[in-house]
Amino acid sequence: MRYPFLDLGKLNAPYADIIKEAACRVVDSGRYIGGTEVAEFEKALAELSQSEYAVGVSNGLDALRLIFRAYIRLGRLRKGDGVIVPANTYIASILAVTDCGLTPVFVEPDEHTHNLDTKLLETAVTQNVKAILTVHLYGRACYDKTLADVAAKYGLIVVEDNAQAIGAESAYASPRGTYRTGSLGDAAAFSFYPTKNLGALGDAGAVTTSDPQLAAAVRALANYGSDRRYHNIYEGLNCRLDPMQAAILRTKMPFLAEENAHRRRLAAIYSAEISNPAVSKPLVDSPDRAVWHQYVITCDKRDELAAYLTDNGVGTDIHYPVPPHLQPCYERYASLQLPVAERLASSVLSLPISSCTSADDASAIASIINRFSK
Ligand SMILES: *Cc1c(COP(=O)(O)O)cnc(C)c1O
Repeated sequence: MRYPFLDLGKLNAPYADIIKEAACRVVDSGRYIGGTEVAEFEKALAELSQSEYAVGVSNGLDALRLIFRAYIRLGRLRKGDGVIVPANTYIASILAVTDCGLTPVFVEPDEHTHNLDTKLLETAVTQNVKAILTVHLYGRACYDKTLADVAAKYGLIVVEDNAQAIGAESAYASPRGTYRTGSLGDAAAFSFYPTKNLGALGDAGAVTTSDPQLAAAVRALANYGSDRRYHNIYEGLNCRLDPMQAAILRTKMPFLAEENAHRRRLAAIYSAEISNPAVSKPLVDSPDRAVWHQYVITCDKRDELAAYLTDNGVGTDIHYPVPPHLQPCYERYASLQLPVAERLASSVLSLPISSCTSADDASAIASIINRFSK
């Protein structure tokens, strides 16, 4: 493959020396659970995401589960409560909701942003709905005045799935006056899965919030439900972030802004240079506040286009080929009418967009796409 979709080895190669240094620091420290690496990473993440607290956890799905569990333990959500969720998302968003005994209320995406269509939010609110899970899909903030107004009007908790959008900003300020994703709602989940914009060398995640009670509940729940040693206030889990991943993430974090800027440059090149009428390009806001975890085009002949690109040395991926409500595990939601999400699932195609792809590569890929005809 001349233009691989993603090459994690190549992606981490420039950091290999400092990653090894960080790993050696952990080996030599004699501290393999918690400690300063985790604490320092949490401090840096809280600052980056304009939040008062960050709690390192095991992965992104656990981050979401811990947030919902904590709200239930704190009495602010009850089992069975409705949570508005986007129909177009990675299944982990929905798994967290159902795992906690909450009821997902699916809302269709906007055709242009692929994010939850906030114009439809108010129609989805019922007596039972107590929260909104907003997913900043593909690195674009899903947050605007409509969402903030609906949340305020009905007293809904706003949880952000920020797995794909670390460093992104909303054009609309949160009630706290912040713009960064991870600070817009009441709590946010991060994933540092290796392919994410800030990737660990294994599984890792975090929760950010400016609510001290929620931060304490998440921290306790992730540590056997213990608020201090041998004192368990909750029936908890073991979902801690390990210091090896924390040390690696701390080391890579200072380079995130430049990596995100590179993704923006590639997105701008694709948007300027792809001109095939068979292909629809994603919206690029001006100024561009997204961090382009994925650059997702749509094409009615998606499978033919993907095969053509493979033949021409361009790796692609699909995010996501089957929407959550049509997965076998969610048979109970299969009859929902979500045509926009279903149409997107059959037409989306993700192009290479990472530090493994150069500006010249993006131009070459755009030319290859422009020569596609079927
Ligand atoms: C990656 C991802 C998750 C899950 O994160 P993990 O660390 O893989 O558990 C959740 N939501 C979205 C939108 C994601 O992209």
